[in-house]
Amino acid sequence: MNNSRIPLKSQSARKSQGCLSFVHLFSVAFLVLVLAAQLLFRDAKLHYSHIFTGQPFLRAIPSPPARIDPEPVCENQPFPTSLPVSWPLNMALAEETKAVVAKFDYTDENLNAGVKEFIRQMGEGLEQDGTSLSQIPTYVTAVPNGTEKGMYMAVDLGGTNFRVCSILLNGDTTFNLTYSKVAIPKELMVAKTAGELFAFLAKQIEEFLKTHHQEHFYKAVRRRQTFSAPEGYRDENALQLGFTFSFPVNQIGINKGNLIRWTKGFDIPDAVGKDVCALLQVEIDKLHLPVKVSALVNDTVGTLMARSYTSPGKTGAILGAIFGTGTNGAYIEKLANVKKPMTGEFDKTTGLMVINTEWGSFDNQLNVLPNTTWDIQLDKNTPNPGIQMFEKRVSGMFLGEIVRLTIVDMLKNDDIHLFKDINSSHNDWKSTTNIAPQSGIFQPWGLDSAIMSVAAADNTPELGTLRQSLESDLHVYSPSLEDAQAFKAIAGAIGRRAARLSAVAVGAIVLQTGKLTDPEWAGEAIDIGVDGSLVEHYPYFRDMMYEGLRAIEGIGEEGAKRIRIGIAKDGSGVGAALIALVAAGMEKNQSVADHLHDVRTEAKANIPSAIPEAGETSTVI
Ligand code: ADP
Ligand code: MG
Repeated sequence: MNNSRIPLKSQSARKSQGCLSFVHLFSVAFLVLVLAAQLLFRDAKLHYSHIFTGQPFLRAIPSPPARIDPEPVCENQPFPTSLPVSWPLNMALAEETKAVVAKFDYTDENLNAGVKEFIRQMGEGLEQDGTSLSQIPTYVTAVPNGTEKGMYMAVDLGGTNFRVCSILLNGDTTFNLTYSKVAIPKELMVAKTAGELFAFLAKQIEEFLKTHHQEHFYKAVRRRQTFSAPEGYRDENALQLGFTFSFPVNQIGINKGNLIRWTKGFDIPDAVGKDVCALLQVEIDKLHLPVKVSALVNDTVGTLMARSYTSPGKTGAILGAIFGTGTNGAYIEKLANVKKPMTGEFDKTTGLMVINTEWGSFDNQLNVLPNTTWDIQLDKNTPNPGIQMFEKRVSGMFLGEIVRLTIVDMLKNDDIHLFKDINSSHNDWKSTTNIAPQSGIFQPWGLDSAIMSVAAADNTPELGTLRQSLESDLHVYSPSLEDAQAFKAIAGAIGRRAARLSAVAVGAIVLQTGKLTDPEWAGEAIDIGVDGSLVEHYPYFRDMMYEGLRAIEGIGEEGAKRIRIGIAKDGSGVGAALIALVAAGMEKNQSVADHLHDVRTEAKANIPSAIPEAGETSTVI
């Protein structure tokens, strides 16, 4: 019976074993509870840390689970191999741009040396023929005062455009102008014969009359024999036309002048030495138009006349200047200063003579003109190397080409990356910068200076307008900001040098006339009429000219304040009309017999006479 008894030890051991497992279980459960409580507590602390810490609410971002990546292995992934940031490249472009800009610097010292030389060459041209400043007497000895009246026609062969207009002078310093303009076809600028170009011009006059003056178009010319007019006949009903011809001519009469040489890209050898008025009249007559070329006008003289007609104040303009395709100026000189012989007849009573300087040829010998490598390259590529050296640094036709040659050189420099994608990747990842092969940048004369105006006008931080123009006008796709900045700086430097060189010419003439120190002109403005796309459309061109004028010894701040440079809008048209008026007056005054004849003709006006229809030969009475 007792075999079945369990020893005491064993019993107590069994007892204690049951007790232990309970303790174990309890302690494990307790531990789990504590751990769970701790975890809960920690989580609560993280979520509500702002309560615990007094800090504003901060959402805790649990850290990502730890991960051990294997060693990276490159498996032909398209890795970027170039530097991601192109600061050093941009710096190179900026540095190079600065260096190029410095080459176009035209200091105050240069400017004053230029003025001295300009005055010297003006004097030389007044003494003899064949000097670089031609100083051509125009036989115009007075400027209008605004009271002139009548209806006239004018045409203007400028260099880029041909303009036809009719002008009604109202006699109260105002006028009405009807106007048409056409670009001169490039092939006609280098036509084989003069006739081809002048026939085109006459055709434009015909179109203009048909459109705007039908009453005149259908009124045919009646010609009357006379000994007073140089041609031996006089045109009745004909509209008097002033022909503005902006190339150097040897003027031998009010409507007669032989072409000395072509400039501005024209080259028709057949016309050189011929009377350009006669060339135009022949073509007008072939079309039987009631138009008489009665005055040959240089555009500068026209501008001077127009400005005098319209300018406010009691004094007229002293200078008319052109800054268009080419550049030139005409000013009023004292007759006594014109030392070289003058062959034509003119009115000496005013003691004045309008002189056409032909300043485009100032300093052909390069005594003082700046001469960068790009100026040299440009000159070599023109049909007239060594001539018109001032014009080649100043006018609209050439400025764009200087910019182009400079840019072409910069494109050759592999270190600066102008217009290359390496720069644009810095500020535009989505597009690729490049220049199309057909870009004007790669064509001689392919960069129109009009884009320089866009560059000068765009002062926004992004240069958006300029970048658009580079794209649309020059096929530079997606230019970077740095590219546009470089272009703007270079175009600006070339434009600024041109404006300061213009100040040399204007300043020298102001000093030459002596008006700044003339007691009779004390307190009066010194009026200058200007015309041409460059001065009209290039922003700040006139301001930069004034900046130059202030730096000239003998002018300074005070003198510059008295100089009034005003646009002679439609100057060449109005000016030509005014000279046609003078010419008509001269023709009228030529003989008393003729005048009497006019009176008799008027008296017989009621007797109907055969007036030929348009297209028939003119009737000679
Ligand atoms: P023209 O010389 O035939 O009388 P303009 O006075 O209009 O004609 O000048 C035309 C010249 O001016 C061209 O060489 C042209 O490149 C330039 N040009 C035209 N517009 C501008 C502009 N906005 N800024 C600078 N140059 C211009
Ligand atoms: Mg012009």
